[in-house]
Order: sequence, then structure tokens, then C-alpha cells
Amino acid sequence: MNLDPTLNADLHCHSVISDGTLTPEALAERAKAGGVQLWALTDHDEIGGQARAIAAARANGMAYLTGTEISVTFAGRVVHIVGLGFDHESAEMIEGLRATRGGREARAREMAASLAQVGIHGAFEGALKYVGNPELISRTHFARFLVDSGHCSDVPEVFRRFLTEGKPGFVEHRWATLKNAVGWITRAGGIAVIAHPGRYDFTPTEEYALITEFMAHGGRGIEVVTGSHTTAEFEQYANTALEFGLLASRGSDFHCPEESRIALGTLPALQARLTPVWAELADRIHQ
Ligand code: AMP
Ligand code: MN
Ligand code: MN
Ligand code: MN
Repeated sequence: MNLDPTLNADLHCHSVISDGTLTPEALAERAKAGGVQLWALTDHDEIGGQARAIAAARANGMAYLTGTEISVTFAGRVVHIVGLGFDHESAEMIEGLRATRGGREARAREMAASLAQVGIHGAFEGALKYVGNPELISRTHFARFLVDSGHCSDVPEVFRRFLTEGKPGFVEHRWATLKNAVGWITRAGGIAVIAHPGRYDFTPTEEYALITEFMAHGGRGIEVVTGSHTTAEFEQYANTALEFGLLASRGSDFHCPEESRIALGTLPALQARLTPVWAELADRIHQ
């Protein structure tokens, strides 16, 4: 397999096992239809879908890397760390992710109580109707409830008016530490990647602190071409990857056919001047 930057790799998406609406099998078929050659399913804080994804990739003749997207608290903010190519039977990682998921239900009940204060009732039960994995009730499920119950016209409006810092429905939460998230991935034989760096409201100094601390813990990659970045950010983070000597990754962050702007496999290719993360994971690919 040719592992150069032009490979159609899509190494970031979500299934019903976290906050996506499709099964791993349906996602594999969409990835195949989108021309994906190397795929990874990266459910939030959960690797329970990996065995199904490996089998579904094989059934579609696609190469596969194991994946997850870990929620991390860094400097009082939430940062997402994608793990790729790890052993999905790693006991340390399974236990660490289980602990990271813990507390989501209590948080969701507090979110619902906060929404009730502004007159939106029944949000916990409402969100639960969209949840595929009882341990993974997320803001996305609340967002789908708020749209379908007529409180907002679409998901972006939900995140402008609710569920984010300072707005009704927001509840502060402590996720994994950066050190633990990077450690679990790395010790299980994988590579840790900073997800969608352009999405955090960091100053240049804060971003520098994130990248240097991430690398000090053994992190090696950064998403450059992602559905969460603008075209200008594709260039900005390509330069960041080169400046810090980070491996570059590419992924749509696909969640749902109705909500996602970017279909699996359809983003521009990674820039030729970058070293792709998959070039360093050749021996971790499931064929
Ligand atoms: P949680 O892990 O429960 O905090 O939920 C975070 C999820 O909410 C993310 O993974 C996204 O899927 C979704 N999300 C967060 N912010 C936005 C936004 N501005 N627009 C759409 N979806 C968002
Ligand atoms: Mn999500
Ligand atoms: Mn994310
Ligand atoms: Mn994601």
C-alpha cells in the first residue's frame, strides 16, 4: 500500500457508539463509497466499536487503523486527542476510557436542570432517545433533541444559544488529563494526534503550550486537513506540523448525513510537503 500524503485516508468519524447516527457497518460502506482507502472510526472516549469497524473495513476491502477521540481538560478548556493504531484490547486504555466516560450521566442531568431554568423541560429524557450507548450521553444528543422539539432550527444554532460556556445547559466537567490520554494511546502502540487545533479559542501562547506539553508526553501528530478547518487553516496547521516536526492527519469528523458538511473521503488531500501519520503506522494497519 502506498502510504504517501495523497492516500485517501479518513481517520476521524463517529458512530452510534458515541454521537454519530450511523452504525460502524453503515459508516464503512459510506467511507468505501467516498473512495476512502484507509479508514479509522474514532468514537468519543469509547473503543467498543473497534472490532466491528475492523470487520466492516475488511468486508469493504478497506485498510483500517484503530481509533478513538479522547476528551481532555487542558488549562481549564476541553481539547480532543485522537488516538490511532493502538491495540484496542489494551486493558489500561479500556479502563482509562471507562473512567473518562463516567460522570456523563450526572453531567447530563445537570445540563437538563439548567435548561429547565430557561423553560426547556424534559431535556434529559429527550436527549436519551437519541443515545446509542447509555454511557455516552453527549451534548450532541441534547442538540438533536433541541432541534427536533422545535427550540432551535439546526445544530449550529443550538451551540450558539445553548450548551456552551456561559449559555443555558452548559455544565463544567473534568475529562482525562493530557498526560493520561497521550500515555494510554502511546503505551498501547498507537500515535496520539491533536484533533482539529483550529477549533480551540487559544491564543498563540496557549496553543504553543498545548503543543509543547503534548509532545513532552509523547504526542506525535496533529490534524491538518479536517472537516473542522477552513482552507486557510489547512495551510496554517500544515506550517505548524512542519515547525514542530509533527506527523499530519486527515479526517472528516463525520457524525450524521444531515448534520455533517463533509462526506467521508471527500476532503482535499494532505499537502505533499507533510509527513502523514499513516506513514509511521504501516505495521498497525488492518488489511
Ligand atoms: P460532549 O463530549 O458531550 O461535550 O459533546 C461534544 C460534541 O458536541 C462534539 O464532539 C461535537 O460533536 C458537538 N459539538 C460541539 N460544538 C459544536 C458546534 N459548535 N457545532 C456542532 N456540534 C458541536
Ligand atoms: Mn462529536
Ligand atoms: Mn472533536
Ligand atoms: Mn470528532
